[in-house]
Formats: sequence, C-alpha cells, structure tokens
Amino acid sequence: MATVAFIGLGNMGSGMAANLVKAGHDVRAFDLSADAIKRAEDHGAKGAGSAKDAVSGVDAIVSMLPAGKHVRAVYETDVFPHAPKGCLMMDCSTIDVDSARAVGEAAAAKGFDFVDAPVSGGVAAAEGGTLTFMVGGPATAFAKAEAFLSSMGKAVIHAGDAGAGQAAKICNNMLLGIHMIGTCEAFALAEKLGLDPQKFFDISSKASGQNWSMTSYCPVPGPVPASPANRDYQPGFATAMMLKDLKLAMDAAQTAGATTPMGAQAEALYAMFDNMGGRAKDFSGIYKLLDGSWKT
Ligand code: NAD
Repeated sequence: MATVAFIGLGNMGSGMAANLVKAGHDVRAFDLSADAIKRAEDHGAKGAGSAKDAVSGVDAIVSMLPAGKHVRAVYETDVFPHAPKGCLMMDCSTIDVDSARAVGEAAAAKGFDFVDAPVSGGVAAAEGGTLTFMVGGPATAFAKAEAFLSSMGKAVIHAGDAGAGQAAKICNNMLLGIHMIGTCEAFALAEKLGLDPQKFFDISSKASGQNWSMTSYCPVPGPVPASPANRDYQPGFATAMMLKDLKLAMDAAQTAGATTPMGAQAEALYAMFDNMGGRAKDFSGIYKLLDGSWKT
C-alpha cells in the first residue's frame, strides 16, 4: 500500500479520502478548512498542516478542488516544488480543459506522472466508492493511477491525452443539462395536455423519448422514487454545479470553434434558474421553472 496526499476535503474529497484509507493507504489530508481536516482524521487519515507538508515524501497525490485557478495555484506553489521525484499526481476536480492541459504539461516537464481524472457521480457516489473516473494523460500515468482511482470508483476510463478527462466530463454534462431540460419540457407539456405524468413516463420510457434524465432521475415526483423531485429537489447535483459545468463547456466550445446552440440555451436557462433562487436546488428542479410553478 502507498502513502497518498489528499488535497481538498470538501463534499466530494471527504468521502474519496475515506475510501483510500479503507483500501489500506496511508492518507495525508490537507484542506484550508480545519473542520474538513478533522473530518478526514475521523475517517483514519493523518491531518497535515499545509499542502507542502502533505505532499512531502508521498508516493501519490490526489486533489479535489473547486476550480482551475485553485488547481493551478496549488500545483505551482505547493505540489511541484515539494513532491518527491517520480510522484504520481491525480487531479479529480472539474476544471477547464486549458488549465488541465497546462498543469499536465508542467508536471510532465518536471518528470511527474500526472492525470486529469474528473468524476461523474455526486456525494453519495464519492462516499460509496462508486464514482466514474474519466482520465486524461499518458498511458504510463494512467496505468499507475488506475488502481488508486479504482479504490474510489466503479469505473476508470482512459479518455486520451492531457485534458481529455475534462473534455469528456464537460461534454457529458452539457448533454445531461440539455436532456434534463428537454425531459422537463416534455413532462410540463404532457401535464398541460391532460396526461397523467406516470402514464406519460410509462409510455415515453419505453418509446423513443427515453433517456437517463427520465428513467434514472425523473424531474417529476412519482415515477422514479429515488429522484430528487420526491424530496423537494434537494440535491443531488445542485443547479450551481450544473451551471459551472455548462460555463466550462461553453468556454471550451468557443476556444475550439464548436457550434453548440443547445448547450448555450441550456446555460442560459440554468443561469436564469440560478438567478431566480434555484442555485441550491437540484438541477432537475428547473422543471418548476418550466411548468410555471417556481416561486422566488
Ligand atoms: P467543495 O467546495 O465542497 O470542496 C472543495 C474543498 O477544497 C473545500 O473544502 C475547500 O476548503 C478546499 N480548498 C479550496 N482551495 C484549497 C487550497 N488551496 N488548498 C486546500 N484545500 C482547498 O466542493 P466539492 O463539491 O467537493 O467539489 C469538488 C470538485 O468536484 C469541484 O471541481 C466540483 O465541480 C467537482 N464535482 C462535484 C460534484 C458534487 O456533486 N459535489 C460532482 C462531481 C464533480
């Protein structure tokens, strides 16, 4: 088993670090929040006083930070200067493709193995060790990262070179935002046309309208008992997070010269829902905006 530094012990990182401990690794935990470090210690990690202390002498490093600027700063200031030679680095945060490529290239230039490895799955999957990892980076780095990531997830997929994990993540979440809104519109129209939502679900889930937002995460209460619609849209996956990912997708589309009108429309609608007070609601709560029942 290995010594692993874990930086960023928030909603996601907390459960992921605990699963590395469960897998038998010696985990050194650091976060800017003392409470987060304490929580990691309660799960069997050793708290560190700084990122620099956390990474000194370790075999591998996992980071789970809010955005690209945090990842760039932590790696440039604390990780690269203090990590041991040949150390494996896995950034699991959802960040912009350009930052992921820049940090990956800087790591390679310094002789480190680095992968961008964002995840699909929320806090429950982080705690349960059932995340899906989308990994970008050289095949040699992926081969070393796979065992660590497998102890925190149910699937670990090599997407391609540096930044490819982030590219896969934002394309997937752009599609998710679009089909969630489409699903909400269809249910709202069905109801206005006098159809019982359960009847519409029974039909459409077996017809060509079937999709994940409908059958696994239905935005109306009833048909899928575990979906957030059945608990007043408590997340789940918050609207603020979906909006963050759609903004990343639209920035990437602009840089790449891709035409993404549906993605742009999804971003605009989620920005509207966010502004109208839906920020902390599950992203499927946009149903209430579309059926006209959302109260600010
Ligand atoms: P969070 O805000 O709960 O956790 C982030 C943690 O990073 C915080 O505890 C914060 O104190 C810490 N941090 C910030 N700057 C730091 C620094 N310089 N050094 C050390 N610690 C620092 O966020 P989260 O929900 O855990 O999300 C983390 C990442 O995972 C994000 O990129 C997010 O987009 C992605 N993600 C989240 C979910 C979800 O459902 N929450 C799902 C998939 C992906």
